[in-house]
Amino acid sequence: MNTSRIEIIQGDITKQAVDAIVNAANTSLLGGGGVDGAIHRAAGPELLAECRTLHGCRTGEAKITKGYRLPARFVIHTPGPVWHGGGSGEEALLASCYKSCLTLAAENGCKTVDFPSISTGVYHFPLEKASRIAVSTIAAFLKEHPELERVRMVCFDGRTKAFYDRALEELT
Ligand code: ADP
Repeated sequence: MNTSRIEIIQGDITKQAVDAIVNAANTSLLGGGGVDGAIHRAAGPELLAECRTLHGCRTGEAKITKGYRLPARFVIHTPGPVWHGGGSGEEALLASCYKSCLTLAAENGCKTVDFPSISTGVYHFPLEKASRIAVSTIAAFLKEHPELERVRMVCFDGRTKAFYDRALEELT
């Protein structure tokens, strides 16, 4: 698999000047903790105002807004699955999050997209499984979409980054 357009970095997703950043949201889309809270704080209250007009989002699907005060042009909001042990379709739902976000990004002309590690914070999705699903879903999408120039996983901490680095290595 050609993974040259996938990168793993450690950093704060709210600081990234890309076409779109992804928000690991909840189904209300009205803000929360973790990366969701950080994105809303950095984007300013206009982001919440636009989110209110969207009437939520189902797990595994995605909705797009403007980036407001963020350096990113768009925010793509996706509620990841809460981990309930793996028997509730969690893996397919997580793959669907990545695919739905990339589909929306491509439809909106985005060439650079940054993801946080969806579901591996308070939603407790096991990091090894999540990282493999993320990079394989991104790689499969990129194969079909040459117009997308670069997709990054922006990992907040070194432990998370190590899992994504390994998952990407396994793929190549
Ligand atoms: P979820 O509810 O989907 O589990 P969380 O926000 O709790 O979402 O965690 C998802 C991941 O986002 C975790 O790895 C967390 O450390 C990370 N994270 C938190 N803040 C940021 C940030 N500013 N930039 C990038 N990643 C972040």
